[in-house]
Amino acid sequence: FLEIHNLNKHFATKEGALVVLKDINMAIERGEFICAVGASGSGKSTLLRQIAGLDTPTTGEVRIDGKRVASPGSDRGMVFQHYTLYPWMNVQENTEFGLKLQGVPKKERREQASYYLNVVGLTKFARALPKELSGGMKQRVAIARALASEPDILLMDEPFGALDIHTKESMHEFMLDLWQRTNLTIFMITHDVEEAVFLSNRIYALGARPGTVRKEMVINLPNRSHTVKRHSIFHDY
Ligand code: ATP
Ligand code: MG
Repeated sequence: FLEIHNLNKHFATKEGALVVLKDINMAIERGEFICAVGASGSGKSTLLRQIAGLDTPTTGEVRIDGKRVASPGSDRGMVFQHYTLYPWMNVQENTEFGLKLQGVPKKERREQASYYLNVVGLTKFARALPKELSGGMKQRVAIARALASEPDILLMDEPFGALDIHTKESMHEFMLDLWQRTNLTIFMITHDVEEAVFLSNRIYALGARPGTVRKEMVINLPNRSHTVKRHSIFHDY
């Protein structure tokens, strides 16, 4: 479904070309929950930006269903570490925002956003402003906003990096629940290997020296649905 072919990314610096990503090849199937781990500066965000179409590879390409990615599109939903919610818009308005940019009519927009606010358990907070929410709730709004456009894949860059440990753990349960209840494909970037192991069915690891180390770890969790604790994540908090 999503393939990365011989991707290289260089940046021009005063000292010459900085090679950040070297010969990256990856393939993600629909329905997978993939994490990519790596130290700070290993190129995780750069990789995600190439997939999102926010930046273009120096050489090589990203393909979705065989089609080359050249720009951002509603087939890819993005979630960042720092929520990027508009502080003056309430939860409902923030969730609708992407749809508004896409020119989706008001009624449809409202229904779609409400549906996904319910999915993330925030229906009661539709009229709240971001400043009235906890970090975990803000991140759930960002997830609802990303899902509202019904993307084929959710791209997340260190989504829980700013959260305290308890909130992070409840978000992990939330993500697994979300993943198991939908047909979502998720690609998440994190520097937390433990988080990656807990969440994903396959992990890519980026080495600190581009091209020198690139490991892939496959985790087989056939009966995960039995081991995941169930919380009332889709109802009230
Ligand atoms: P972190 O865990 O700190 O978020 P990361 O793995 O996401 O790190 P990137 O942000 O992808 O790392 O950066 C990888 C390298 O590329 C760094 O050395 C960074 O300075 C460099 N880099 C990223 N973007 C640019 C740019 N636009 N111009 C020049 N260098 C860049
Ligand atoms: Mg980063």
